[in-house]
Amino acid sequence: MSNSAEYKQLLQNNANWVEEKLATDPSYFEMLSQGQKPPFLYIGCSDSRLPIDVFTGSIPGQIFIHRNVANQVFLNDMNLLTVLEFAVKTLKVQHIIICGHYGCGGVEAAYTGTTLNMVENWTMNIRDIAMENKKELDAIPDLTERLNKLSELNVIRQLRQLCKTSVMHDAFRKNEYPKLHGWVLDISHGLIKELPIPIEEWKDYGLLPTSYEP
Ligand SMILES: [Zn+2]
Repeated sequence: MSNSAEYKQLLQNNANWVEEKLATDPSYFEMLSQGQKPPFLYIGCSDSRLPIDVFTGSIPGQIFIHRNVANQVFLNDMNLLTVLEFAVKTLKVQHIIICGHYGCGGVEAAYTGTTLNMVENWTMNIRDIAMENKKELDAIPDLTERLNKLSELNVIRQLRQLCKTSVMHDAFRKNEYPKLHGWVLDISHGLIKELPIPIEEWKDYGLLPTSYEP
């Protein structure tokens, strides 16, 4: 398929999909256009292989989504902070999921430091995570498995970053906060793995309220 045909196919697929939807439910788009009340905010990697709604069998209106390379949470990222504030304060999502994945190019770029492009700048925080966990990572002989472990550590670090945002502070203070979840997706078999969050440790540091329950 030529590049142009592949592009045109997107629009054709859209038209087909709309037709199918209307055939089974004539009011589908009327209902959808009335507003959103998603229970989930998802922060994931931009990787094209990870449409989380497909992997979780979700429907339009269920997941509010923010994606960037290697699912990073920076306290000065206006894009992410705007999404977070809107999700927590206006949509009042019940869960926030940060999802990384094995085979993440961003994590690999950060670990190997072999690129000189923006991805390396963007993922510099992951390089710090690797340095801080050098002993644990060095004990894993296989590079792929080591990078997988780093992907997991990255998710937990980004959740910790999330707890530091003023949006979450405010939500914790008001005792109206979404539950936090860390996921890593293994593209090689499609399954999602839930990662343990060091809740008690974070409570000790004041990152989570003492009343927080997972
Ligand atoms: Zn990735």
